[in-house]
Amino acid sequence: MSQVQYVHTACPRCGKRMTYEGGKKALKCRNCGYKRELGINTDQVQNHPLTAGIRWGDFSKGMGLDLKAFKCGSCNAITTVFEKEEPGSCVFCNSKKWEESDQLKKVLEPYGMMPFIISQQSAIDKLKKYLNPKARFPLPSIKWWYPRGIHNILEKENLRGVFVPVIYADIFNRTTWSGKANFKTYQKQGNKYQEKRVLEPVSGYWENFFTEQFQGDSKGLANQFQEILPYKIGNAIPFKSAHLQSWPVELYQSKEVDILKKIDKRINKRIEREAKSRSKGEGMKDLKIQSEKFLITLRHVIVPVWVATYTYRGKRFQFLVNGQSGKLTGKKPLSFTRIGWTILLASIGMILTAWLISL
Ligand SMILES: [Zn+2]
Ligand SMILES: [Zn+2]
Repeated sequence: MSQVQYVHTACPRCGKRMTYEGGKKALKCRNCGYKRELGINTDQVQNHPLTAGIRWGDFSKGMGLDLKAFKCGSCNAITTVFEKEEPGSCVFCNSKKWEESDQLKKVLEPYGMMPFIISQQSAIDKLKKYLNPKARFPLPSIKWWYPRGIHNILEKENLRGVFVPVIYADIFNRTTWSGKANFKTYQKQGNKYQEKRVLEPVSGYWENFFTEQFQGDSKGLANQFQEILPYKIGNAIPFKSAHLQSWPVELYQSKEVDILKKIDKRINKRIEREAKSRSKGEGMKDLKIQSEKFLITLRHVIVPVWVATYTYRGKRFQFLVNGQSGKLTGKKPLSFTRIGWTILLASIGMILTAWLISL
């Protein structure tokens, strides 16, 4: 996997694709010789948004011919099956309503995949521990407050493996800023020194290589996916459909440019924090930031998740285990009937005790 093929910045002079020279930290155009050094020089920083100048047409798309994709009619996730297979129930919501989808042709060819390291059995063991916390006196074991049947998620056929998509970006950034900030000074008044605050102009320069900035894009896991991050991209192996075994792959559905915009937003926050802390003074005002960002690499990686879905009173509860690190998340549904019984029995107990004492 050559890194060069993941560089998608266009030459500002001739529009051809630039290549990244890691050793020299520079972007170079092989067509016209234009070279953009990415570092050291603190000359005028131009405004160059992250999503500008990307040659989207150069990306290879698709995931091979031996897969086909279906969209779930209930949760809208698009997942793959092998060409000769039929989709069973949705790994995220158990629905069996499917329609065929052509999304496979639209996704970036995966740069890599992270294999399952956590076995199904150890994922089950982790979930078991999670569902059976030790009783905390004087409350009864919380276990009893779960709805009936929740322990079915610990059965092998109900804890299923799936690969979900993550977009990784390496971004080079140069930033200059200016503004005003408050500084403390001390003035002599009589024989005392008085503290005073003075607003002074500040400015600065910062450059940084943001590596492995990632953004998930799963419909099936929605926001819960955030809770089992991160994954280590260093452990990725080249993508091959043969490595999928029987596990489905979820396909991302947002446009790449919209995924990049989310990453960009996070980077802007970081840049602003950096500008404020490097300017030293307090209560920064009129902060003006000028920033150049170059997308060095953009990679689509699929990562492993164990998913168990449980439906209670029409509401869907998901339990997730990160297939690489074993990190676990999931909201435990509580049975109101059973909590009601607990309160009722406790009240009866209290009334009885009070009555017995009064005798
Ligand atoms: Zn050029
Ligand atoms: Zn579904």
